[in-house]
Amino acid sequence: MTKQLSVLGSTGSIGVNALNVVRSYPDHFQLKYLSAQSKADLLIEQAHEFSPKAVVIGDESQFKTVRSALPAIEVLKGREGLLELASRDDVSTMLNGIVGSAGMEPTILSIRAGVDVALSNKESLVMAGDLINRLLLEKGVNLFPVDSEHSAIWQCLTGEAKEDIKRLIITGSGGPFRTLPWEQFNKITVAEALNHPNWSMGKKISIDSATMMNKGLEVIEAYWLFDLPVEKINIVIHPQSIIHSMVEFVDGSVKAQLGLPDMKIPIQYALSYPRHLQQDWEQLDLAEIGSLTFEKPDLEKFKCIQLAFDALEAGGSQPVVLNVANEEAVYRFLKEEIPFTAIPEMITKAIKAHDFLEHPDLDDILALEKWTQAFIQRS
Ligand code: MG
Repeated sequence: MTKQLSVLGSTGSIGVNALNVVRSYPDHFQLKYLSAQSKADLLIEQAHEFSPKAVVIGDESQFKTVRSALPAIEVLKGREGLLELASRDDVSTMLNGIVGSAGMEPTILSIRAGVDVALSNKESLVMAGDLINRLLLEKGVNLFPVDSEHSAIWQCLTGEAKEDIKRLIITGSGGPFRTLPWEQFNKITVAEALNHPNWSMGKKISIDSATMMNKGLEVIEAYWLFDLPVEKINIVIHPQSIIHSMVEFVDGSVKAQLGLPDMKIPIQYALSYPRHLQQDWEQLDLAEIGSLTFEKPDLEKFKCIQLAFDALEAGGSQPVVLNVANEEAVYRFLKEEIPFTAIPEMITKAIKAHDFLEHPDLDDILALEKWTQAFIQRS
């Protein structure tokens, strides 16, 4: 049976890979909705190829271009258009490939509409994990992880009982500065930070990988996805990015999921679950790779990891501020307004300065998002 899909963020790195998957299985998947923030040309090209029912262009200045290029398709615009599309209930799965906190509300709206979500936007769970989990239960909706580490854990947990889990072991490559001495961190340039050794990704997540905030956010994401206490979630550095994560059980048995670092694999699995679909992608050749190595994360150099653990322990509004402050600081670093080392410093300041809320609702979270953005912009 054909699965009707909505792909939000279709012109980003995740979206383009998702469309590669859809293209190879036209009998399995049909694209009904697409959204892009600013890449109008690519959105138009995608719409010509896949003939969706509607598209959204986030950047309103490009609406006329998209509108006139796609006369037979419904075209919406701006944030409002995106939220409207995310609320539609005539698809079975929404793949959320939107970057950053902007992806949170679309996740919530799709769940409210009774639509399963394939989630690449980890920020949704970091900011609103509690709210999202309650909505999933209420609506009987599934959340399928796209993040490679969480896809790995999900696959390792298939057929297992929760009581048998000793801990989750999230792997991370360590990013481009794993071996760089701390004394040189203040000289890190944008180009160096964007140059990830293994994964080809968008700019925001590449910087998050360089600061290792990405791993911290993934710990919070795992907490909400797998409902385990924070003590049972560990990080290990694995520079080759072949083992995507592991689960250790109470008898000492450890299961791992392996693969080449290619996001098409976890994207496809989130869409094809519980089946694996045949693909002739480049194969994993372990003899060629030779050795897989592991080390402890350096919490002194990568301060963002500890900040994320602390925010998760504090709970409430703290992960919201952590996430938004990080995002804004990353954008300021990308604009060369602040040094690399200022990112964790600014996050720490924002967390200290905010008015803590134990149980923020959606309006509280949106208000905190605005407050935090303004705080980092004037810091
Ligand atoms: Mg990941």
